[in-house]
Amino acid sequence: MQRSTRKNVIVNSAFRCIPHLSISQIDASFMSKQHILLIEDEAPIREMLQISLTKAGFVLEEAADARQAQTAIFNRLPQLILLDWMLPGMSGIEFAYQLRKEQHTREIPIILLTARGEENDKVRGLEVGADDYVTKPFSPRELIARIKAVLRRVSAFNSGECLQVDDLILDPVQHRVTVGAEEVAIGPTEFRLLHFFMQHPERVYSRTQVLDQVWGSNVYIEERTVDVHVLRLRKALAQHGYEHLVQTVRGVGYRFSVRK
Ligand code: CA
Repeated sequence: MQRSTRKNVIVNSAFRCIPHLSISQIDASFMSKQHILLIEDEAPIREMLQISLTKAGFVLEEAADARQAQTAIFNRLPQLILLDWMLPGMSGIEFAYQLRKEQHTREIPIILLTARGEENDKVRGLEVGADDYVTKPFSPRELIARIKAVLRRVSAFNSGECLQVDDLILDPVQHRVTVGAEEVAIGPTEFRLLHFFMQHPERVYSRTQVLDQVWGSNVYIEERTVDVHVLRLRKALAQHGYEHLVQTVRGVGYRFSVRK
């Protein structure tokens, strides 16, 4: 993305990286239209989204319930699923849970659609592994923006590109960070954070921007959570002498920089 700022960071795609196979639908998304599966029992909403998403360049497949959705997924894995919470038969939340359990569907990003009043269940939705959450009534424009944001995040995360600064290597496919022969002990959130930083070196991000990029745009995480995870990331990197890469920019936020 920020090719011009990458000169200080060696992008090493040959070393140690293995071809990324499991999320081929995401890689293919750059070459063909992105397939989205909408699971929604209200026909007017399906019709509205069919028109607006097609216009936005997506291919929208429709399912009225979880059973139809299973068939659709069996026929073709979508790049993203729009999932209504209140469905006849299996609820959206149960279906999301099922998708996350299955090997071949666990990586497909999910945006939950729900009516007001179900807000309290928001946290549950995100806990079950939904990537974002849109409350009805929503504008197609808002939904499309959310879809694009989620797809961007997921594709960046799954590009499979190894990132390297000196001896520090992050391998997104193997989900490992190493320094020389040593593995860096790092938690999943710190891993995502480091991956984001390494993809966007030399740029300053506010806490809000980091939240949006690394956690997604759900609002249930406070800004100071970023500080907590940045601190943990620095601690993990400090074991190997790389803590200086994650820099605090006073009054603004954070920056990943090879310049001390
Ligand atoms: Ca419904």
